[in-house]
Amino acid sequence: MTTAQTTELDVQPTPLALLLLGREADPRSERGVECPGDLPSPSDPDLVARARAAKEKLGDKVFVLGHHYQRDEVIQFADVTGDSFKLARDAAARPEAEYIVFCGVHFMAESADILTSDDQKVVLPDLAAGCSMADMATAEQVAECWDVLTEAGIAEQVVPVSYMNSSADIKAFTGRHGGTICTSSNAQRALEWAFEQGEPSATKVLFLPDQHLGRNTAVRDMGMSLDDCVLYNPHKPNGGLTAEQLRDAKMILWRGHCSVHGRFSLDSVADVRERIPGVNVLVHPECKHEVVAAADYVGSTEYIIKALEAAPAGSKWAIGTELNLVRRLANRFAPEGKEIVFLDRTVCFCSTMNRIDLPHLVWTLESLAEGNLVNRIEVDKETEAFAKLALERMLALP
Ligand code: SF4
Repeated sequence: MTTAQTTELDVQPTPLALLLLGREADPRSERGVECPGDLPSPSDPDLVARARAAKEKLGDKVFVLGHHYQRDEVIQFADVTGDSFKLARDAAARPEAEYIVFCGVHFMAESADILTSDDQKVVLPDLAAGCSMADMATAEQVAECWDVLTEAGIAEQVVPVSYMNSSADIKAFTGRHGGTICTSSNAQRALEWAFEQGEPSATKVLFLPDQHLGRNTAVRDMGMSLDDCVLYNPHKPNGGLTAEQLRDAKMILWRGHCSVHGRFSLDSVADVRERIPGVNVLVHPECKHEVVAAADYVGSTEYIIKALEAAPAGSKWAIGTELNLVRRLANRFAPEGKEIVFLDRTVCFCSTMNRIDLPHLVWTLESLAEGNLVNRIEVDKETEAFAKLALERMLALP
């Protein structure tokens, strides 16, 4: 278990410029939900003390999860940090915690609710913290896609594989249709499993919702060609594909992407190589295929952290993932003589992750300490059962 190391730092709310970035910076991912209740002012000098007091009052009843991409002011109160799947499992391993406060985004809180017991209540400090990628695949669109695959006569050959970064509805669709969930760490194993579910040469995968992770895994890690992949656009009739194109494809990629990782470009890579001779370019597989192909190393956030831990003193790294994490890693490894920079010159926070700030966390913890359950995320039983089935298939992957 990775316990956050920053508890004693008294990190204050981040400056106004960052707060603005976290507000309506990405209209596609705003869920249009306002938090009830009175939030404390970001300029309240007692926020850190208030959060600490409320957390102490709650004691073992509360367990605070902090995703790697969260702000420092929030991470300092996390009992554990990690990626979304690790955090959901950590929550399930703490049954004595009645309240799971998930400092992350909506789909992560849903996954935690699916994997924790019925007695545990999962809370998202700001209900507007969605994920633009997860929102790019709705249950209606995916049901329509399945109809298109059925019409093309291939639905029986198709195994859905859905990225963890998807709504509970999409996870349930995946479970219902014999598929599995994957993370950015085990996407290759999930695809190999999927192709073993039928006659390998006839089996196809519908990969949801991140086209880049699907394409990068199929082409970079499994030796498929770009021609083996087609892109299903839910905004076009029949996904913008003919029945013949669907029948010829091995990978049917949903047209979704991460608005943060999708910003890195070949220019970002060329620019950093020119600025920092000898730099190692390390990117997340949610980046575009050409960026991944131009990088030196590719891997999940956990992979990135381990690679930097193992890196020799004096090495130089340009990292293509969310900026809060890169900044934290740069600070952590600077004393060891490792130079770590952000891959792009422009600011690249996840705007919806940044919605969880200290005022929302204080409001959440104080409300819970007063006995008011706020912002609960609860997945309905039927959705939960099928989503859990898909998650369990992932846990059983070899
Ligand atoms: S970084 Fe990308 S995938 Fe992760 S929550 Fe933000 S928008 Fe979603």
